[in-house]
Amino acid sequence: MYESTRGNLSGQRAAQAITLGMVPSGGLFVPSTIPTLNWQDLKGLPYRDVAKRVMTPYLPDFSESDLSKIVDVYSDGTFDGPNPAPLVSVGNFGVLELWHGPTAAFKDMALQVLPDLLKVSLKLFDREEDVLILVATSGDTGKAALEGFKNREGMHIVVFYPEGGVSPVQERQMTTTEGINTHVVAVKGNFDQCQTAVKRIFASETLKSQLLEKKLIFSSANSINWGRLLPQIVYYFWAYLQAVEQGKVAPGATMNVVVPTGNFGNIQAAYYAERMGLPIGQIICASNKNNVLTDFFATGVHQSQRDFFQTISPSMDILVSSNFERFLYEMSGRNAEQIQTWYDAKNQGTFTVDPLTLKQCQDTVYAGWADEEETLATISQSYKAYQYVFDPHTAVAMKVYNDYLAATNDQTYTVIASTASPFKFASNVLIGLEGEQDKSWKDEWEALDYLSQLTGWKIPMGLQGLDQKPEKAVKVSEPEGIAELLQKMFI
Ligand SMILES: *Cc1c(COP(=O)(O)O)cnc(C)c1O
Repeated sequence: MYESTRGNLSGQRAAQAITLGMVPSGGLFVPSTIPTLNWQDLKGLPYRDVAKRVMTPYLPDFSESDLSKIVDVYSDGTFDGPNPAPLVSVGNFGVLELWHGPTAAFKDMALQVLPDLLKVSLKLFDREEDVLILVATSGDTGKAALEGFKNREGMHIVVFYPEGGVSPVQERQMTTTEGINTHVVAVKGNFDQCQTAVKRIFASETLKSQLLEKKLIFSSANSINWGRLLPQIVYYFWAYLQAVEQGKVAPGATMNVVVPTGNFGNIQAAYYAERMGLPIGQIICASNKNNVLTDFFATGVHQSQRDFFQTISPSMDILVSSNFERFLYEMSGRNAEQIQTWYDAKNQGTFTVDPLTLKQCQDTVYAGWADEEETLATISQSYKAYQYVFDPHTAVAMKVYNDYLAATNDQTYTVIASTASPFKFASNVLIGLEGEQDKSWKDEWEALDYLSQLTGWKIPMGLQGLDQKPEKAVKVSEPEGIAELLQKMFI
């Protein structure tokens, strides 16, 4: 069963949590108990079967055959090889490449299964309505969600992104999505304003009832939806199985993970994997210049009313990380009343936790951050040292891992979650590798080719020929105008 982090709902089935996306009166769905799983029982299984075993205890009302079909996506050619998430040995650490899906970012790992999870959830509830998926994106979620949901029967998707706040490749990926049920809206504002506006829509009773008359219900494909988080727990088990198989980790010994963090979904999945019994040593949270979380772990003060920076790791440009609420729920000993106060709308994400909760947080996660220069320097240093190219997000993680090593000298085998292909951010990667002085590429599209020539790496399929594809019309809206726009589109 699932309950709300704010104590306003409990005893809900998985299908309900996934259908609703978030608790209608505020709060996020979390599992009431966290099941355990012995990693040894997963040895030798292919990814799809590991996925099935990890997800099954969380989805008791899903049939076995439904789940088998859902995990097919990991073996049916959707991902660009037999291993959807290879652990690559780099130096004396590992890089878990989570970007072999259709959009070259780790979001595919979950967004390729969420539509099926949702479809089964609706069936379990005998819901006849169509679903309207609303997504706020800082870049990568948008395209991954559009790809996952395109041409799905009974589902419509609208993606909202901050105008000018995503990379040219990210924008083109979104605007070239096919599918009659896919829509893209550029919002005048930064990602936080965009996300806040979309959250307000979810809470609007007026819009909800108007849509219901048209037989439409809302759901979310952001990582506030449990159906997004659940498939992400899988690849931490997968990383561990590979590390043991490669002889990097002795069976049963611990493994550290470093996660470049934005909305705190990916790292929260690592935390759940640890709670399920996976031998994870240290979980390391890496932030960019928008380092609300680094400050929080140092002081216990969550100060999100501060300047927002647009960085070269845009998917981490976030001041209020949605899933952090799930983390604090666990760290506070599931104190829903506290969560309610901390996340009260009038606090706008600025609050201070009690010393005990802070201690619990610090014992669970190590946090650090990288500024823009450090990120670029890490891209070039890592390439020189290991001939391995990090995208800017993963480079932030690499930098924080170096800081962690310097601070602790912890020799535990460590896996860096690599969240995007470097080609997704080719020009910034090239600036890291070559400096900005004499750019030998004229635009983002040349940068892709040039990066490929320079490194000998292949451009991922999903990023090839993007500049030639036809684009769909993008609607533009103020954050306050989103409700009206949706009314025009669907009511
Ligand atoms: C979404 C994203 C992140 C942040 O992940 P969260 O789960 O939101 O913390 C990091 N890197 C890339 C490339 C992403 O797309």
